Amino acid sequence: MTNLYEDWFNKHKKLNEYKKPLSYLLYISIYLNAIYNIKEYTLIKMVLMYMFEEMIFISGHIYLHSTFKQLTLNKQTRIAHYHHYYDPSIYEKMSYLHRTSYFNRLLLPVYLILALVFSHEDFSMFALILSYEIIVHESYHVRNPEYFYKENIIRYVEKKFIDIGAKLKIHDREKHREHHIQTINNNDDVWDNLWLFGKYESLVKNKYANFIWKSSGQKKNLIIINFVCVIFLIVFSYIKMYGFNENYFLINFKYNFLVFLTCLVPTSIN
Ligand SMILES: [Zn+2]
Ligand SMILES: [Zn+2]
Repeated sequence: MTNLYEDWFNKHKKLNEYKKPLSYLLYISIYLNAIYNIKEYTLIKMVLMYMFEEMIFISGHIYLHSTFKQLTLNKQTRIAHYHHYYDPSIYEKMSYLHRTSYFNRLLLPVYLILALVFSHEDFSMFALILSYEIIVHESYHVRNPEYFYKENIIRYVEKKFIDIGAKLKIHDREKHREHHIQTINNNDDVWDNLWLFGKYESLVKNKYANFIWKSSGQKKNLIIINFVCVIFLIVFSYIKMYGFNENYFLINFKYNFLVFLTCLVPTSIN
């Protein structure tokens, strides 16, 4: 079994290096887009975008776990499987591969739909919250922060925001440890990495995730149906609240397409 993981690691070392500039291109474009739009952010919209992001993140997380059993049976691994079953610190060792792994064939069509429906400030906010959740999860597994966050100014600033979040208690490394122990024991129960509104929000999300996880019998297709329903719900609620017309559609596309294209670049190299 060890060979499988070691082989995977050796094969992907180079790919991780190739993804370095792509990963920075993607995250810098998300950060710059957010800074550009920040004046238009409102608290209500931020709450809404956070809710949408969490719905997608949790649904994606359940889907990801539903692929693990088959991978183990087939004696295969992928970065998230490796992270759960062999070495959680892979996210520190291959951070570029990890950071770009959220822009995959399953999630890209989702981002494209959102890029078409959301206004540019909302899309930029969604992308910012998503990238924060990704770097928070990464930070749970960084064993050498002194070295890791001193790579450059961007990482240094990211660490400052992660520290602020930890102080505000909107994320917690110990709770995530629980998630890893549960997965190994086939007893999943905690699925979230971020809870802006505290423990009750986390409770509701995990109850929902467990309901889907258990009632689907971990079947991939059923979990994908849940994922599609969640996206429909988000698109439907957004259009219901903010309306929809063709001009608006084209304006969104024009502004969001660049960011969307940047997401495509790391995905296209595998
Ligand atoms: Zn997980
Ligand atoms: Zn983890």
